[in-house]
Amino acid sequence: MRISNKIIDEVVKEVAGEDVIALVTLIKNKKNISEFKIAEMMNVNVNVIRNMLYRLYNHNLVSFVRKKDKKKGWYIYYWTFIIKRVGTLLEDIKKKKIDKLQERLERERGNFFFSCQNGCIRLDFEKAMDYGFKCPECGSLMQQEDNAKKIKEIEDEIKKL
Ligand SMILES: [Zn+2]
Repeated sequence: MRISNKIIDEVVKEVAGEDVIALVTLIKNKKNISEFKIAEMMNVNVNVIRNMLYRLYNHNLVSFVRKKDKKKGWYIYYWTFIIKRVGTLLEDIKKKKIDKLQERLERERGNFFFSCQNGCIRLDFEKAMDYGFKCPECGSLMQQEDNAKKIKEIEDEIKKL
């Protein structure tokens, strides 16, 4: 599968947070960039950059090498974005989404739903009964809903994924 920029952004946002997209854009086509260099390029404190890099590292989206700075005596970390990993993560994300949709689908198929005509609320049979089939918001009588359309929508979404 070809990994487009759009897919990279999507996956990074999903697993590490939207704020990390800019950092990834900066380093994804380079190798072994020092965190100080990244901080300088982004004009952000190096601790903020490290926090972002750790979030990526938690999902194996970056690797690092460290080298001792001879003058200062401390270690500097050099980071590389692992594009290969994006494909695997994308599959994981899709699988999780499908599982969630499947759960919703079962709930829709296995329950009757009642909704308020004024659009206040939608409840399953049991909850609607608790309220005597009256909308808890506006008091009007709730109607049983035909959820065939909703079921179809969820099915389509699963197919798309
Ligand atoms: Zn209502």
